[in-house]
Amino acid sequence: MHASRSRLIGAALSLLLAATLAGCSTAESRALAQPAGAPGRVPATSGDHRGAAADAGLTDDDGYIPEGSSLPLDSDKPAVTRLSPNLLSALRHAQAAMKQDGDGTDITIADGWRSERYQEHLFAEAVRQYGSEDEAEKWVKRGADSAHVRGDAVDIADAGAMDFLNRFGDEWGLCQVYANEAWHFELRTTPGGGCPAQSPDGRG
Ligand SMILES: [Zn+2]
Repeated sequence: MHASRSRLIGAALSLLLAATLAGCSTAESRALAQPAGAPGRVPATSGDHRGAAADAGLTDDDGYIPEGSSLPLDSDKPAVTRLSPNLLSALRHAQAAMKQDGDGTDITIADGWRSERYQEHLFAEAVRQYGSEDEAEKWVKRGADSAHVRGDAVDIADAGAMDFLNRFGDEWGLCQVYANEAWHFELRTTPGGGCPAQSPDGRG
């Protein structure tokens, strides 16, 4: 089931070995051993547009997660508990596989389920940020159009987990949907079926 991952790891090890034999410095070797998936929190992105949410009276009950924090998959907050059971289950299976691979990173959620009120707030903020509704719609969907409002999308907080899901998420049906949102995942394929082509811009 994890053959594709094993192949990738094998390829990475071969690269590392080749680099070492070629006399690369230790620092370069370490860089090769830790590609894009190096752990660490992702700074707030322009797509996250959460700035004044607290001022708008948004709370846990809206799925609001303060900027700079994130929730684990077993959180009892609505942002996690109101996700669709299938999505949550897929994420938990992916996390178990990550741990089995010896990756200490947890999958944590920077954004999960959101209330319609929260989504409308995000849209209004995006209009302010991008100057027009047309431009804002490249980044944020309105109200119930958002997969987040339906509980069908998560924004992953950790770069290591993001990288893992980008490479192997389809084993559990998890796909990056938008080319400009490396953090946004939805169930978009049958497990192992390969992800569909990404849309050029995110409207998560
Ligand atoms: Zn998203």
